[in-house]
Amino acid sequence: MTLLIKNGHLIDPSSGIDKISDILIKNKKIFEIKENIKSDNEKIIDASGLIITPGLIDMHVHLREPGQEHKETIKTGSQAAAAGGFTSIACMPNTSPVNDHSGVTKYIISKAKKIASVNIFPIAALSIGQKGKSLTEIADLIDAGAVAFSDDGMPVYNSQLMRRALEYAKEMNTLIIDHCEDLDLSSNGVMNEGYYSYLLGLNGIPDYSEEVMVARNIILAEKTNSRIHLAHMSTKGSVELIRAAKKKGVAVTSEVTPHHLFLDDSMLTDYSTHLKVNPPIRSKEDNESLIEAAAQGIIDVFATDHAPHSPDEKEVEFNEAPFGINGLETAVSLILDKLVNKKIISLNRFTEMFSCNPAKILNLKNKGKIKIGADADLTIIDTEKKITVDVNKFLSKSRNNPFHNWKLKGAPVMTIVGGKVIYSSLNPVK
Ligand SMILES: [Zn+2]
Repeated sequence: MTLLIKNGHLIDPSSGIDKISDILIKNKKIFEIKENIKSDNEKIIDASGLIITPGLIDMHVHLREPGQEHKETIKTGSQAAAAGGFTSIACMPNTSPVNDHSGVTKYIISKAKKIASVNIFPIAALSIGQKGKSLTEIADLIDAGAVAFSDDGMPVYNSQLMRRALEYAKEMNTLIIDHCEDLDLSSNGVMNEGYYSYLLGLNGIPDYSEEVMVARNIILAEKTNSRIHLAHMSTKGSVELIRAAKKKGVAVTSEVTPHHLFLDDSMLTDYSTHLKVNPPIRSKEDNESLIEAAAQGIIDVFATDHAPHSPDEKEVEFNEAPFGINGLETAVSLILDKLVNKKIISLNRFTEMFSCNPAKILNLKNKGKIKIGADADLTIIDTEKKITVDVNKFLSKSRNNPFHNWKLKGAPVMTIVGGKVIYSSLNPVK
């Protein structure tokens, strides 16, 4: 199967590409990149005026299958990812059963092969049952297809276990991802601790509940000389710890979600459970610090922490509602509108954070680049397209997204995986 994309503006900082060119795709790979490729037999896409990046990768997604298919399935999560401009997603292990043994990993991969249009990379649990007591069979899980290890949703509390995990991961050349939270400090908190938690009479989660674990993880990564990736950073203090660690040469990478960049705790005054998430929406000052860190390369990755929940679970009192925001179908437009179109970050930085860096961090060969021979996973973006977020049009099974009715400029318009158009809002392919 061949596909010719004409006149797109290609952006790939990993290959140093920033130019208008054609791309010819053959046999699921990028075959040729140059101007005016002549051809008669291919399907042709006119990408004039549009941006083409290597396929976007969301390295933090909760697909809910197996076990909680009423919230999301591998199929609906994959469709939501495609509509959101993502060609690859990595899914967290807190399913039911937990992805802590190779049987579950293999199940996810084989189901994804059958019904998912995007590439799905399972992240396995770091500890059995995510209980933080004993390590999973890391080698077995890697053989089954796990690309990283995390107890996400639960922090790894036992520092000795984390140390062993880091040592083992280094030997096996895999990645540990941690959800940084001191559960005792978080106590029964449901939102950011500060002026607004006092005003609303809700229990707060202090910023240092995250920061003490960020500090511990950085120390352990340094002492074991291993890599660590910190999930969904939310505070200014975490940014400062990561900044200092990177300066020292510690192999720490991290991610930030759109909701931690663009929402703050003053917005919780109507007790909307769509804003209940863990780590919580923080303060405006934290937003600013996180945005600056993304622009400066202190934070490496944009990720959604896509956490679908059904309406009846979210339509309860704030204290009772589960944590989580559905993010796959709004992330790209939010970053384009709030950061790229406002010239806070460049399209190159956008592409690094949404594609090149997650591919590198997860060690996904042949992804995250526009290069001859690389997988033909591409995202086509219209930075001028105006959209109004409508959760009722989501392909995700759930609707728990706080950006409903937001007007945004910039959107993914076509998603191509292995040379196949899996989502398009453009005119039909010729
Ligand atoms: Zn988490």
